[in-house]
Amino acid sequence: MQTDPKRYVNSGSFTSPLENFMFDPRILVVTSCTGEKRFKPENQLQLDDFKNPELLQSRSAELAEYICPAGQMYTGAQHLRLMEGISILRQARGAEAVDLIILSAAYGLIGEEEKIVPYEVTFNTMTSEEVDRWATTLNIHLDFEKKTQEYDLIFVLLGEQYLRSLKLPVNHRDGQSTIFLTSTGSLKYLKASQTKNIALILSNIQAKHYGYGLVGLKGFLFKKFAEAVVRDLTILTKVYEHPKLFSQIIDNRAIQLNILIKDDDLVATPTIELIRVIDLKQYQNNSIGSGRSETATGISIPDDLQPSANYALGIQYFIPEWDDRVDPRYNFIDDKNAVNRDTYDDDVYAHQIYDRPNYNGILLSRVVFDKSKKKSKILLEKGVHDYIRYSGQIMGDCGAFSYIQEDKPPYQTKEIIDYYHQVGFDYGVSIDHLIVGGFAKPGIREERYALTIKNAEEFIQEHSKGEYKFTPIGAVQGWSPESYATAVKSYIEMGYKYIALGGIARAPTAEIVEILQAVYHHLTPTTKIHLFGVGRLNAVPIFRHLGVNSFDSASPLRKAWLDPTANYHTMSGKTYAAVRIPKSGSLRINNIVKAGIASLETLKQLEEKALASLRRFDEGRLAIDETLDALTAYDLLLELPRAGKVDAIQATKRMNKHAQMYRVLLEDRPWKDCGCKVCVDLGVEVVIFRGNDRNRRRGFHNTYVFNQRFKGLLNNAD
Ligand SMILES: [Zn+2]
Repeated sequence: MQTDPKRYVNSGSFTSPLENFMFDPRILVVTSCTGEKRFKPENQLQLDDFKNPELLQSRSAELAEYICPAGQMYTGAQHLRLMEGISILRQARGAEAVDLIILSAAYGLIGEEEKIVPYEVTFNTMTSEEVDRWATTLNIHLDFEKKTQEYDLIFVLLGEQYLRSLKLPVNHRDGQSTIFLTSTGSLKYLKASQTKNIALILSNIQAKHYGYGLVGLKGFLFKKFAEAVVRDLTILTKVYEHPKLFSQIIDNRAIQLNILIKDDDLVATPTIELIRVIDLKQYQNNSIGSGRSETATGISIPDDLQPSANYALGIQYFIPEWDDRVDPRYNFIDDKNAVNRDTYDDDVYAHQIYDRPNYNGILLSRVVFDKSKKKSKILLEKGVHDYIRYSGQIMGDCGAFSYIQEDKPPYQTKEIIDYYHQVGFDYGVSIDHLIVGGFAKPGIREERYALTIKNAEEFIQEHSKGEYKFTPIGAVQGWSPESYATAVKSYIEMGYKYIALGGIARAPTAEIVEILQAVYHHLTPTTKIHLFGVGRLNAVPIFRHLGVNSFDSASPLRKAWLDPTANYHTMSGKTYAAVRIPKSGSLRINNIVKAGIASLETLKQLEEKALASLRRFDEGRLAIDETLDALTAYDLLLELPRAGKVDAIQATKRMNKHAQMYRVLLEDRPWKDCGCKVCVDLGVEVVIFRGNDRNRRRGFHNTYVFNQRFKGLLNNAD
């Protein structure tokens, strides 16, 4: 810590003479320009004016009557609230209390006294490339590094594109603390430097929490902070030393309860720390007296609820298998399968592509087996492990959704047990009958419930009679927490060590949690619980706490081609739309040609141009706008005709929507950041929505991402 005597103030709030003088950090606020300005003359400056110094001079002269200091030019909500905060601090602590610099997309980094004229330039409407280029011209990175040097505590209130323009990290001197107030999308631009950094990530959740709109929230929170500082001047020093406290100080409740800072609440902050993301909700959990803990789902469990009795058994991810194979010799340039390829013998599963499987196990439903005679024959001959070419654990079930309409399941217990045994499953699930939708009506549900329990009882009895290698799993259906809990209790009494809860794949997480809370009380240290069809990463910690040991989900895989927008997933949770470039032989294209909307020849040309452009973009040889032009030219003709006609408005709407999504994809180029085998091998092909070999591989990538994130959650929890 520095020892300049002028830098110490009498805090007045401590009795100990030693603590009477506290380090007084120099404070800087960095904020962005806003679209709303005090003057909006028609001839205000445009970007082009700033690109030419002579033009800038003459054009500025035309606007002389509007010249004013930067600090007074902006009238957007963020700026106004921020200025109120700054003036509160200055009233209490003098004009020197805090300095302000503004990041203007037109002028670069400017002081609040700098005189400027009205302009209409913002980073928000620029492409990322334009931001990068223009930020370099404006010298923003170096300026930011230079202008922040002399300050101890720096607040950065910048949105995504403005933050990008800083090109972090910058070199800081030791002993600086930086607090970023920003949004989720900005995370990728926050790079650690040798300062104490924290980031407060603001979203609509925080906006709601503070009762202030997202636009302007950064300024609003700074003002709240200023108000707190005025009540207790020592806060500045404390926040400088422990930036994490910032979130506590601006929290309404913390102020109310007057529990601002108690040192024993502090987790020691290392001097060099990576950017931390403070989740305000999580913070609330830590605050005194809340007595609840919350997960990212917003669902809370009481603090005194211990982890379930079976917690030590861990939690695992199974993937349902449905012939998810691809041609390993697929030629992406000619779009052709390997010659003489056999779709079973030659094609490969995801676990044959990756060095390690992206799941802890596989779930195979009987309905997949029943689909073709040829298939069931091979399965019986080879056994399920050889059939799927997977040596890990495989669970078999009946696939209750396939017979939901029937009064009774089409299988008998003995027959199913023999099937599990012959095919060589590691786990076999008893025959259940779904209680969902119209089948959850009183009268029907009790019948299905009783039938499911009866089957489970038969199942474990039959299983105990023979020499079966597979572990029996009792399937439970229900319609309320109590009905599930009652069944689980009786299954444990029947001798089950593994119980699967069904019928909740589409239930809201809150409902599943209620069911689990009811089930929780019956669990023993050796009971395992499986959830059918529930793969929700944000709920994994709470599920695990309440006793879930496994779940299955094909959703990351299938979203690659079934989701309208979220086709390519990433580690940050951000998802992207894949670029739709259908093949000229596809059904859609045939329909369009048949309706006479465009000739096959035209479509083929546009298709080829779209593919070629995307590949050239990937190689860095084509700009985003040109690439998008090629993509949208094809896309515009892809609206399906209705009654032989295409609705031009719909087609344009569709194209515009796609153009927006594709722009984001091209700007971020997420496939270049992924080190998984599929992305490394395929490159840009993985983000093209086109045929099984790209789409399913993209699904494999999504599964990889899901599993990495899942494992990351577990590492954090243990
Ligand atoms: Zn990947």
